[in-house]
Amino acid sequence: MTVLEMRDVVKEYRLRDGLQITRLRAVDKVSFELKPGRTVALVGQSGSGKSTIAKLLMQLERPTSGAILVDGEPMRYRGSPAAAYRKAVQMVFQDPFSSLNPYHTIGHHLARPVRIHHPDFTREQVAERVLDLLRRVRLDPSEDFARRKPHELSGGQRQRVAIARALAPEPAILVADEPVSMLDVSIRLGVLNLLATLQREENLGVLYITHDLATARHFSDEIMVLYRGEVVEHGPADDVILNPQHEYTQLLADAAPAPERRLAELSPGATVAGPRGR
Ligand code: ADP
Ligand code: MG
Repeated sequence: MTVLEMRDVVKEYRLRDGLQITRLRAVDKVSFELKPGRTVALVGQSGSGKSTIAKLLMQLERPTSGAILVDGEPMRYRGSPAAAYRKAVQMVFQDPFSSLNPYHTIGHHLARPVRIHHPDFTREQVAERVLDLLRRVRLDPSEDFARRKPHELSGGQRQRVAIARALAPEPAILVADEPVSMLDVSIRLGVLNLLATLQREENLGVLYITHDLATARHFSDEIMVLYRGEVVEHGPADDVILNPQHEYTQLLADAAPAPERRLAELSPGATVAGPRGR
């Protein structure tokens, strides 16, 4: 798969309110493209529809109207095209604590997707691939991390395991839904840098979902601002930040501290250049 596109996608939820049924438009005519080697940031406040877009891309929800196109063809939800799609598009979730089973080792968590995607692999090949995945997310020494249980890892290390698991099927696209918002501020930058490195090294297409405009600018090629389900702004990251067209983007920008201070905050001790740097 090379290009994943949403075209005028609408997702409505029906809400039962006593005897009445009302509709809530969580996603309102959203259009964008994801392709290899590019990071698109989807930025918006809580409730703006970000996770619904992720669920639509992960086939956990279906659009009410509009189309999701995979290499120009309508998304298929069954059969071998769907299986190939589910391999090509992987997700990293917000919560690194609930995604791992406390009774199983990290090696066990990673061996499973490797076996599913490589049924022909021998035990040794599976074990070698698991170590390779751990090295790719910089969990060194990989043999040591493979033997550990989740409680022996920090939140940031667990999120690296979640990223390694997403990489196991060798995806073309990664959807990261607020991947660092539950992590300690001091380790957020490390995980975002890892995602950026992987994106470059493996030529991934990344949808980086966040409510943080500063990291969106730093880590993305394009920014889309979502407001009540609608994309109110979409363009090259610097243009969106320096020359916002919509007042909501301005509000988000004003709510966030200056980017250089924000990045300094994210990595205490690091020197960050700029007039307000410290
Ligand atoms: P975000 O991820 O930006 O916080 P969501 O996509 O989770 O936003 O939610 C967008 C809107 O859709 C919210 O108003 C939310 O309450 C509503 N919503 C999300 N999922 C459902 C659902 N399964 N049923 C009804 N409403 C939902
Ligand atoms: Mg969400």
